[in-house]
Amino acid sequence: MKDILVSGASIAGPVTAWWLHRFGFRPVLVERLSTGPRGGHAIDVRGKALAVLEAMDLEHAVRANAMRMKGVSIIDDDGKEVWRSEEMTISGGPLDNPDIEILRDRLANTLVNALPKEVPVCFGNSIVDVQETEEGVDVAFKSGERRRFDLVIGAEGLRSDLRRRCFGVDEEFLRPFGIALAPFSAPNTLGLKDWQISYKGAAGGYMVYPTPENDQLRVCFSVPASLGEDLGNRAEQMARVRERTMHLGWKTGHFLEAMESAPDFYLGLIAQVRMDRWSKGRIAVVGDAAYCPSPYSGQGATLAIVGGFVLASEIARSPEDHAAAFARYEARMRPFVELNQAIADLTRDERFERDPGYYGDIVVPAIEKAKNAIVLDPGDFARV
Ligand SMILES: Cc1cc2nc3c(=O)[nH]c(=O)nc-3n(C[C@H](O)[C@H](O)[C@H](O)COP(=O)(O)OP(=O)(O)OC[C@H]3O[C@@H](n4cnc5c(N)ncnc54)[C@H](O)[C@@H]3O)c2cc1C
Repeated sequence: MKDILVSGASIAGPVTAWWLHRFGFRPVLVERLSTGPRGGHAIDVRGKALAVLEAMDLEHAVRANAMRMKGVSIIDDDGKEVWRSEEMTISGGPLDNPDIEILRDRLANTLVNALPKEVPVCFGNSIVDVQETEEGVDVAFKSGERRRFDLVIGAEGLRSDLRRRCFGVDEEFLRPFGIALAPFSAPNTLGLKDWQISYKGAAGGYMVYPTPENDQLRVCFSVPASLGEDLGNRAEQMARVRERTMHLGWKTGHFLEAMESAPDFYLGLIAQVRMDRWSKGRIAVVGDAAYCPSPYSGQGATLAIVGGFVLASEIARSPEDHAAAFARYEARMRPFVELNQAIADLTRDERFERDPGYYGDIVVPAIEKAKNAIVLDPGDFARV
């Protein structure tokens, strides 16, 4: 077994492909977008995911691109600061620890650029048909190409098309939280410097923070949304965001104007993915496609990185027995996934907003425990 297709080139996909290549396989990475992820939000790389990046010799490169935020202010409808911290941010948690907060597009680009030149990365392409046979998986691509692979790995995120084709409809696996988030870039008209603002008005709020160079802001609105709903095209999505947020105070009108011309605007449903099995025959899923913990947990990038490594190392452990490899991948990852997904229940608890001690006393210790709750064999890092 040698040829493995990995679909999705954000976090889980490139990590899986990198390790598969390292273990002697021939991975091919395919990404629906023409350039890979653009824009996006700040995500966290924590605990065992840092160990995986270090083993890939990438921790330095990722740290060099990290957010540089030094704290957060909570402001009211008039922009008046009502609370501040120089010890934590809302998006990244406590500052005094080795975890890395980084924009998703920068992490994805760093991971894709780290792939050896022998790993083909096909942007602007996707799977249009997949048929499993005794000998392999016959895949047809949007480009018109057809090819047989030994295994196919879906790293396509929350709304994975491969998962839909091979495992079942989204309604079976997604546990929605009733909202959609709309992150987008805007010029740094606030002059924010390494500082995050969480606007909490009487009728709602949103978060704003600068990129590491402080030249741009990333703004994140939220609107009610449900799983069955079609969120529409870009214009319809923007109309929905406008309609649901225009009554808010502070600088909402200004940011809604900036949203109109944001090249990276998107509106995405917030949900967890809960699946009984992460593989079927020769097809497996990894990262958000398999076990999205949702932004409420802040652990999605960590699960995607660790999941990609564990999946690749288990395939390498029994290259001629993918069923056994997938079973071990599930057995090792499931307790880790469950602990990390459970953090979302803690941050959605009403005490999160109300009780000032709740975050430090309850949420932070839970993240500390969950981020390291899997044993990674150092021998796997070295194995070739
Ligand atoms: C607003 C927001 C805030 C977040 N905050 C945090 C946080 O603070 N901390 C944290 O750790 N995580 C956070 N997350 C979650 C984090 O972004 C994800 O968990 C992480 O990106 C998962 O990586 P992934 O590679 O599994 O999936 P994704 O990053 O979703 O990537 C999937 C990739 O597959 C591609 N793709 C999709 N369909 C196809 C197809 N049919 N064919 C080919 N390619 C396809 C996509 O274009 C994309 O490049 C947040 C998410 C959101 C939306």
